[in-house]
Amino acid sequence: MKFSIKLVLSTMIVLALALGFSGFYFVNYVFETSLDREVGQALDESSILSFAFETAALNVPLKYSVLPDSVVEEIASKLEMEGQGGGRLLRIADEEKNILYTSSGFTSDEGLLPQTDLRTKSYRVIRAQGGFYVHTCVAINTLNRMLYLETMKDVTEVFTERALGFSLYRKVTVVILLTGIVIMLFIASLLTKPIRLLTKATRKMAAGDYTYRARQVSRDELGQLTGDFNRMANALEENICKLEEEIEAREEFMGAFAHELKTPLTAIIGYADMLRSHKLDEEKSIMSANYIYTEGKRLEAMSFRLLDIIVAKQDEARLLDVPVGELFAYLREMFAEKKEMDIRFVYEEAVVRMEANLIKTVLVNLIDNACKASEYSGVSPEPGGKAADQKGADMAGVPEASVSGGSTGVVEVTGERVDGGYRIAVRDYGIGIPEEEQIKIVKAFYMVDKSRARSKNGAGLGLALCAEILKIHHSGLQIESKEGEGSCFSFVLAL
Ligand code: ADP
Repeated sequence: MKFSIKLVLSTMIVLALALGFSGFYFVNYVFETSLDREVGQALDESSILSFAFETAALNVPLKYSVLPDSVVEEIASKLEMEGQGGGRLLRIADEEKNILYTSSGFTSDEGLLPQTDLRTKSYRVIRAQGGFYVHTCVAINTLNRMLYLETMKDVTEVFTERALGFSLYRKVTVVILLTGIVIMLFIASLLTKPIRLLTKATRKMAAGDYTYRARQVSRDELGQLTGDFNRMANALEENICKLEEEIEAREEFMGAFAHELKTPLTAIIGYADMLRSHKLDEEKSIMSANYIYTEGKRLEAMSFRLLDIIVAKQDEARLLDVPVGELFAYLREMFAEKKEMDIRFVYEEAVVRMEANLIKTVLVNLIDNACKASEYSGVSPEPGGKAADQKGADMAGVPEASVSGGSTGVVEVTGERVDGGYRIAVRDYGIGIPEEEQIKIVKAFYMVDKSRARSKNGAGLGLALCAEILKIHHSGLQIESKEGEGSCFSFVLAL
């Protein structure tokens, strides 16, 4: 059964019970009050009658010492005639409870007589002649005689009014319930609207439409539920998108990996086959073995990089406070042999949180890439290094460049404090990277110029490794580059 119908039914049951009980109580209360009033009047009337009887008995001629039955009848019939609307219903009995006089139409039995004495008046409500009556009985002590006066007062109207009251209340209850059903159906439909909208949203999502959101139509608990549902749907959609992206990235990775494996393996297999199936002269044999060796080395380098990436992905960062001076000293020493490049180290002293070995790997990769990009450009640009040099002069580091004779390019490695951390940047004035390639180059196996990268033993894994290492340092790689003008790779570490 629908929730709105349940709501309507339960409300109607409560309303019907409330109306039923209150109606019954109200009509009965009015009835009881009217009946009490009628009983009071009947008792008053019977007192007045007994008084009138006693007064009439006083006028009896003196010759009687005891009130005779004939006078009793006479007084009784007189009192009967005096009644409003053509007569009273009364009955007189003597002390032995023998009936002396009965009005025609007085049909009640003699049940009240035994309960009545000089001090007690008694009454009861009886049903007679198709109507209801208040039957009263009172004792009269007159002229040495003890008599009993009984009256009957018609109270049928009170009972008729009660029946009418009940019937009217039943009709009113039915009308109220019918109107209530219509109003409650409308209210229930309004109240359950958020539930209907939520159900629709849930079904849509179950059918695969993760973008669908439930409309929030109220601010109550159901409105809050809708809000929470939508937030849950957002989180779900985000996670599904992430999963889809991850699956896509994995597929891309597998494709690229297979391709990168295939190229050196094809060469290795080709040259190995040539060596075993042909008799080659010494020069060709050496050349073939050389190809096998270089391609094998490339494969080895690739597998090491891949291992590094896997380790970096799984690694928990063990970050320590490291003075940047140590890092720059290591880099300067590492690249001291690279005489054909002008690699300048300019940095501000600071203590930075990092895993030194991993950050060294990042910087070695970036500087390596910068050197490759500069060598290839074949230009010897005048770096915008003036500013850098000036800045370097203000810094605590060593601004002098380790310049070698006949260099083809300049690479600047800088370190400076910035808002929220310490920024390390590697700038070159080499070939630069086209804008549309900039976001792709951090993907594994991505190379802008494949043949050039392969000729330099690259497999497009260096930046992917850098990105993974920076991720565990809660940082990321920023790339600014202009084709033909050079690039700047930077990242920020916590101080
Ligand atoms: P690789 O091992 O090929 O160098 P990387 O992941 O380090 O792989 O770099 C991916 C590609 O990004 C490189 O093949 C190169 O095309 C491009 N790249 C990286 N650094 C630079 C740079 N400083 N200037 C121009 N291109 C760059």
